[in-house]
Amino acid sequence: MENILLLAHTEADGSLGKPGLEALATALSLGGALTVGLVGASTQAAADQIAASGAARFLAVTGESFAQPRYATDAAAAEALCRAADCQIVLAPGTSRWARALPGVAYRLGGRVDTHATSLALANGAPAGSVPVVTRWFYRQRMEAVLSRTQRPWVVLLDPGCVAPWTGTAAAAAVEAVSVEPPATRTTVTGYRAPKSDEQTIRPDAKMLLVAGAGWTKKQADGAVHAAEAEQLILGFLRKAQASLGSSKSLVDQSGEGEAVLTCLTHMNQVGQTGSTPRHAKGLSTCCHGEEPHVVGWRFVNQRRAINLDAGCGWARGKADVLYVADAFEVMRRVNALLGA
Ligand SMILES: Cc1cc2nc3c(=O)[nH]c(=O)nc-3n(C[C@H](O)[C@H](O)[C@H](O)COP(=O)(O)OP(=O)(O)OC[C@H]3O[C@@H](n4cnc5c(N)ncnc54)[C@H](O)[C@@H]3O)c2cc1C
Repeated sequence: MENILLLAHTEADGSLGKPGLEALATALSLGGALTVGLVGASTQAAADQIAASGAARFLAVTGESFAQPRYATDAAAAEALCRAADCQIVLAPGTSRWARALPGVAYRLGGRVDTHATSLALANGAPAGSVPVVTRWFYRQRMEAVLSRTQRPWVVLLDPGCVAPWTGTAAAAAVEAVSVEPPATRTTVTGYRAPKSDEQTIRPDAKMLLVAGAGWTKKQADGAVHAAEAEQLILGFLRKAQASLGSSKSLVDQSGEGEAVLTCLTHMNQVGQTGSTPRHAKGLSTCCHGEEPHVVGWRFVNQRRAINLDAGCGWARGKADVLYVADAFEVMRRVNALLGA
């Protein structure tokens, strides 16, 4: 097996986040000599956190200049680590920070990059001498490809949530400092701004996804719209089940069309072809028709259920494991009461 460099950036508290630990687990599964390259304001704690993983070498670019996510500094740090480590395979978690910087680094090194990989493994799980292959989805998770490359270094960004993170006890790691002259920057990070919403509703690690469709804001049997109650039922369920909230495109688009809206939703919640593809063990769709451009975002939701008044909706056509042909207001009132009991 070729030598592997795991590139990871530290979190604000100096630790290594879950995506980094997942990429570490993948790197270890390949069996080559592993070098870890760390970037951050301080890196010793992160190195200690994974010292017992069996990595042969720890390299680090450390300093305040490398604390914030920023293309110029991240790319300079990653390039220096890649050159110092001199490994053929460079594996990194597909965080927004690395997704922005590492394709440019692969270009600088004359290598190639693959993003949104869901695994990196030896072909056919074969032993020594076999080539590593990447799996990734194309055309909005409709087709899965297995591919390999001959160019080196081969930089692979592994999507978070695909493998169990590495766990182990902390120990003392010997870290080799790699010095990098911080490049001139024009970008200053002044803080983080979360999407406008009165509470955090997107929980990627939740076991359960609740999807709200446009039906919640449509006229109901009594001829009236009940958006306020809809919001209260949805948020009540989220709190009780600690679920994540997804939406159909129609519902989140309504804010721009002057129709009744649910204030707990933004375009960040949109699931589907032009939205997200979250990974949850279970999903419950409510008041959503289940059209293909929406359901394609459910590719990685293992067990799917839907509540719709229409027995002929999209979910009934092989897209859900269970369809409750019922009024979602009534069902969710009852579910929330049961959860509260
Ligand atoms: C290029 C392209 C990309 C797209 N990308 C996306 C995407 O990323 N994500 C996405 O979601 N869509 C996407 N769409 C739009 C998609 O095709 C649908 O228009 C959209 O998903 C419909 O949203 P909906 O099911 O919430 O609304 P509607 O189609 O209006 O359905 C509302 C449903 O609510 C039900 N309902 C009403 N009241 C109740 C009640 N009391 N109880 C139970 N059920 C009730 C109705 O029976 C109906 O089935 C895309 C479309 C295109 C063309």
